[in-house]
Amino acid sequence: MRFPMDRVSHTLDGERASQLVGLGLKRGIAYFDTAWPYHNGANEPCLGEALADYDRERFCLVTKLPCWKVDSLDQVRETVELQLRRLGVEYLDGYLLHSLTQKTWEKMKQLEVLPLLQEYKDKGILRHLGFSFHDRYEVFEEISNSWEWDMCQIQLNYMDGDYQAGLRGLELARSKGVPVVVMEPVKGGALARLPDEVAKPLRTLNPSASDASWALRWVASQPGVRVVLSGMASQEEIEENSTLFSPLRPLNEEEQAAVEETARRLRQRIRNGCTGCRYCLPCPQGVDIPKVFRIWNNMSVYDNDRLTRRAWRGLDQEEKPSHCVSCGRCQTLCPQHIPIPEQLAQAGRELERRVGT
Ligand code: SF4
Ligand code: SF4
Repeated sequence: MRFPMDRVSHTLDGERASQLVGLGLKRGIAYFDTAWPYHNGANEPCLGEALADYDRERFCLVTKLPCWKVDSLDQVRETVELQLRRLGVEYLDGYLLHSLTQKTWEKMKQLEVLPLLQEYKDKGILRHLGFSFHDRYEVFEEISNSWEWDMCQIQLNYMDGDYQAGLRGLELARSKGVPVVVMEPVKGGALARLPDEVAKPLRTLNPSASDASWALRWVASQPGVRVVLSGMASQEEIEENSTLFSPLRPLNEEEQAAVEETARRLRQRIRNGCTGCRYCLPCPQGVDIPKVFRIWNNMSVYDNDRLTRRAWRGLDQEEKPSHCVSCGRCQTLCPQHIPIPEQLAQAGRELERRVGT
């Protein structure tokens, strides 16, 4: 996902991507994760090209079915065949139902996608079947119990142990012998540059270790984690990450305690207790209340203007607090009793002051 872009054409820089893939393989990185929509469809062919000169047995290649896009088994077949062609391979080591939620899982069940994918597996074309996941733990549990999965991919980092599948999901997968691939180990970069005061416990223990290295080692130290995904866009990142895992040094007790203290300090900076449950939605004006609160909380917790700006600009205008007319409807529905209209207004003021409109 982090392949470099050409600055002039704003398309993927295939030559640099190939160099990075080559360096990764040389340094022992053997697992490549892609998906249909990455870089608007350009990622799969670019990765295929970058891997074309290497022995197929040397790497694991995983891509995903865009569940939101397929509406029939014929479309699933066409998609799988096209992905194999885009990647220039005869088989995939892993094939995941992409970004499952309750809604997309229901659709996959209704279409009976898994028996079809099993046929590909029986032929050795899709060697391991799994899913990547973005919903509540209960949904993860249901999906986990509904099929003999070969693998699954969840979001996990030391700030998100109880978010989505979280540590409970990891434990469930482990109890079933399902290997877990972790995405977002550094929380989209938020744990890679911590405020000084927050990171003190880590820097006191080891002043030369990067903030990202603590996040990666925390994830890799969790029992049941088989693969830690990290998007790498430069030679330096590949060298740092591959060194960290060659071999991995799991966190010892003292280090684990320092990470926990860092997480506690980060949580203390949260502005309100919005859990993202979405009970307050839909807002008649279209304001995306939980998203606004998440961006506001993250701004305060991680103090990272680049990530805040990106998230804030990612909102549509009508999703922003300026569209709230203080009707109060949402307030009565919030189990956390958050004074939503007032806090939305405050969040809007602070975000605009910090990163613009
Ligand atoms: S108070 Fe504002 S955010 Fe809440 S429902 Fe009314 S318009 Fe939407
Ligand atoms: S109902 Fe309350 S806690 Fe839930 S998303 Fe809305 S504001 Fe957040």
